[in-house]
Amino acid sequence: MYDVSAIRAQFPILSREVNGKPLTYLDSGASAQKPQVVIDAITRAYSEEYSNVHRGLHFLSNLATDKYESVRGIVKTFLNAPHEDDIIFTSGTTEAINLIAYSWAMPRLKAGDEIVLSILEHHANIVPWHFLRERMGIVIKWVDCAPDGSLDAQAVIDAMGPKTKLVAVTHMSNVTGTRVDVKTICSAAREKGIATMIDGSQGAVHGPVDVQDIGCDFYPITGHKLYGPSGSGAIYVHPDRQAEMRPFMGGGDMIDTVTRETVCYNKPPMKFEAGTPGIVQTIGMGVALDWLMDIGMENIAQHEAEIARYASAKLQSLNWLQVQGTAPDKGAIFSFTMAGAHAHDLSTVLDKRGVAVRAGSHCAMPLMEHLGVTATCRASFAMYNTKEDVDTLVSALELCHDLFA
Ligand code: PLP
Repeated sequence: MYDVSAIRAQFPILSREVNGKPLTYLDSGASAQKPQVVIDAITRAYSEEYSNVHRGLHFLSNLATDKYESVRGIVKTFLNAPHEDDIIFTSGTTEAINLIAYSWAMPRLKAGDEIVLSILEHHANIVPWHFLRERMGIVIKWVDCAPDGSLDAQAVIDAMGPKTKLVAVTHMSNVTGTRVDVKTICSAAREKGIATMIDGSQGAVHGPVDVQDIGCDFYPITGHKLYGPSGSGAIYVHPDRQAEMRPFMGGGDMIDTVTRETVCYNKPPMKFEAGTPGIVQTIGMGVALDWLMDIGMENIAQHEAEIARYASAKLQSLNWLQVQGTAPDKGAIFSFTMAGAHAHDLSTVLDKRGVAVRAGSHCAMPLMEHLGVTATCRASFAMYNTKEDVDTLVSALELCHDLFA
């Protein structure tokens, strides 16, 4: 039985007030709040267990190293990756996709090679590929979504041509909540010898992920959306692709030996993790992932599906509100606009009612252009949200309608 009140009670921030009103936090798509167990782990790590990792022989360094390295196993279990060594730590998805671009794509692709992207992508999965377009003459092929925001897997498959080297698509849109049939896309790409990168920033938060079942080559996740600290993250990398990667960042930890003339790299995955990492952030992410797995990602998915159904029905009944993206099976992320009111004004009024939403282009300008809007308000629900939160949002939106209509 999913006890949302007991879950909420574990998030101290959810009981605070904002602008004299109880907080209704609907911005978890940008960053999720942290449960006490993560906050305690961070405090403990700094107050009792802290030192730099890997390089020391003293007690605290060994302790911090063990705690930090144990997170590889936790991420492996969370994503059902075959081996711990398939997991590379990063500071988040943005760093992860840049790492894939510089480490894997740049040494292997040449002018005229194609990368297939969907229009649903976040800038983190667009701009690194623009770098390769500008610097190397790589061609970006775009696949549009349908008017309801859904992405036809067949359209992505049809876009894969003889020059396609990589398909990079999101598991779930951070703007419309659209879920993408990544398994079908990855299976077709594999048959054609094309690599696949699935942006798991949102997808991994809202349900179980099995990278072996998806059949992808790269699957990045970001800790701060998974109820862990910001500055933490990881990528699953298929061993065949990992063998093809060249290190991108050079420095300490990623080397075995360095002489005046030569450098010999550490074995993977550390070969791709230069410098002092986010030690405590990574430890905190591990605690968050363990905590999520204890609750059960399947249970979280079921709870959020109910919230999504309830919110869809409520928001779509407001005939003065334009909900952007109504794909079947979408996640509990809702972008909307209201004629006569700018998204920033809407979010300011909602904030006065204690309702935290995000307004703007959500780092997805190509999608905004495709939808024909410059900005939207986005309410993103999480495992701690309730139907009452939906009701609070709706009554605050009704107030906006009275003010702006
Ligand atoms: N991809 C998607 C779909 C996202 O929603 C986000 C963050 O909003 C990112 C990538 C970037 O993640 P980060 O800022 O944690 O690197």
